[in-house]
Formats: sequence, structure tokens, C-alpha cells
Amino acid sequence: MVMPDTLAFKTARIVDIFQETAEIRSYFLSLEEEEDFQFTPGQFNMLGLPGVEEAAISFSSLAQPGNNFFMHTIACVGNVTSLIERMEIDGKLLIRGPFGYGWPTEEIVGKDILLVAGGVGLAPLRPFLLYCLEKRNQINNLYLVYGARTPEEMVFQKDLMDWQKKEEISTIYCVDKLPEYSSLLPNVGLVTHFLEDLQIDLSRALVCMCGPEIMMRFVARKLLLQGYSEKDLYLAMERRMRCGTGHCGHCQIGAKFVCQDGPIFQYPDIKPFADTML
Ligand SMILES: Cc1cc2nc3c(=O)[nH]c(=O)nc-3n(C[C@H](O)[C@H](O)[C@H](O)COP(=O)(O)OP(=O)(O)OC[C@H]3O[C@@H](n4cnc5c(N)ncnc54)[C@H](O)[C@@H]3O)c2cc1C
Repeated sequence: MVMPDTLAFKTARIVDIFQETAEIRSYFLSLEEEEDFQFTPGQFNMLGLPGVEEAAISFSSLAQPGNNFFMHTIACVGNVTSLIERMEIDGKLLIRGPFGYGWPTEEIVGKDILLVAGGVGLAPLRPFLLYCLEKRNQINNLYLVYGARTPEEMVFQKDLMDWQKKEEISTIYCVDKLPEYSSLLPNVGLVTHFLEDLQIDLSRALVCMCGPEIMMRFVARKLLLQGYSEKDLYLAMERRMRCGTGHCGHCQIGAKFVCQDGPIFQYPDIKPFADTML
């Protein structure tokens, strides 16, 4: 893992902005001070502006060796994110990071990999999915099940269409409500409903999920009942976070700090703690 100077801010310039949905935008950023900025899928930055708090935001892009570009995909929900939403190209953000342990990139060889995402939860999974596609010859089957309330609320629509056409990955997109016409042709229903149809080899399964905790709770329960083993399930946990360095305790779940021990956890690591929804 890359160990940053945890309290030092770096300045990142907004190179481009893409409106994903009515409330979610992707920001393409470049670091002013570093030529080569490396991070792993599932890690996150603390993002802020001078004089305001910070928000934890995952990388939604894959790091490329020798450059300092990265992407964050941000839902406008509160203090920091609504200020970021007002920013334009060439605006400057303060960042600290990268922080945390990411998805199990070391574990993918020979596996059937199932990615399950809900809403903006696809953002932290996107770099892992791109990583799996890069290493496609090392893994067995690759699946993405992605759900949102409506097709308009789905992020990375261009990627979704590309992935839908690729032989290397099997996709199932589903929504709660479907308008008459949708280019993505999603199914109607919850992600849990579509998990039964997948022909996954349980002896070599790896499941990574990110989305609302209620979704992850039901997905985990369903998969465990289907015979998946607990250690094959990885979940991204989100908690209110201040320092990102394991000192303030805001993000604590039992004995674990989401910022330092996570945000990606193996199911057995968080199962014992009563304050999770799992
Ligand atoms: C590791 C990690 C990665 C994340 N990655 C992403 C990402 O890639 N994209 C993304 O969009 N989000 C991501 N998040 C979520 C993001 O950090 C939160 O939504 C964050 O709170 C936004 O900051 P804000 O200041 O804009 O919102 P806040 O002002 O903190 O408000 C956020 C929500 O919390 C409510 N709230 C405010 N104060 C309190 C309080 N004291 N107690 C309880 N609820 C309160 C608000 O009403 C609002 O609904 C991530 C979180 C974590 C921990």
C-alpha cells in the first residue's frame, strides 16, 4: 500500500467535469506537485476546500504509471460535496491521500469474480473492474450486477454500454422503475433477484460489493444461503470520517477503523460488530 504523508494537503486542479446524473458528477483531476501519483482500486482521498471540512471520496479511475491524473465521482449530498458541485474547470481542490486498503487485487488469479454495485457505489468498484479487464486472461469468469432506482440514476453510462457489449464480462443492469425506452435495456427488480441466475463456481468465487448497506446486507445474506463462503465476500463500508488516519474515531466499527482497516472489508472482519447492518 502507498503510505502518504497523512496530514499534508496536496493541490489538485480540475481538468474536466462530466455530469453523470442530476446529482452526480465525475471530476478529472491532476496533482500540481507530483508527476507520478499512484493508488490502488478501492482506496480513497480526503477532499476539501480551504476553510471547510473534508469528505472521503474513492478513486473512480485506475492509476496509470508515470502520470498524476485521477478521477473522483461525487454525489452532491451535503456541505463539502455541494461546494465541490459549484466548482468549474481549473478550480483547485485540497486532497489528502491515498488512504485505506482497497479491493483484493492479489486474489483474482483463477477466480470467478462477481461485482455487485448499487447507485454511486459503482464508483469505487469501477477501477477494480478496469483492473480485472486488464488482467482478464488471469481470471475465470467476470460478472457485474448493477442496480439503480431508474436508468437516469445510473453512473458511467458510456462504460455500462461498452461493458454490455464485451465478451470478457457478463453484465446485468437492473432498476426499480423502467421508462418506456432505455438504451441500456435494464431489467426491473432488485439486484438480489438476479444473483440466482449466475453460473458461478463457488469453489473459486470472489464477490466484491459496494452500495447502500441495506443492499449489501441482503446480497450477503442471499449469497451465504446459496453456499458462498464468508471469506469470499468483500464489502466497501462508508462511515462519516474526519481525519482519515485512524485518530479521531469517527469512522470506528467495533475495533475497526474504516479509514485505516478498510474501507474494503472481508465479511468475517465486520460480521461480529453489532453496529453494522450485517
Ligand atoms: C471511504 C469512503 C469513500 C467514499 N467514496 C465516495 C465516492 O466515491 N463518491 C461519493 O459521492 N461519496 C463517497 N463517500 C461518501 C461521502 O464521504 C459522504 O457522502 C460525505 O458525507 C459527503 O460529505 P458532505 O460534507 O458533502 O456531506 P455532509 O454534510 O457530511 O452530509 C452527508 C449526509 O449526512 C447527513 N448528515 C450531516 N451531518 C450529520 C451528522 N452529524 N450525523 C448524521 N448524518 C449527518 C446529511 O444530512 C447528508 O444526508 C465515501 C465515504 C467513505 C467513508
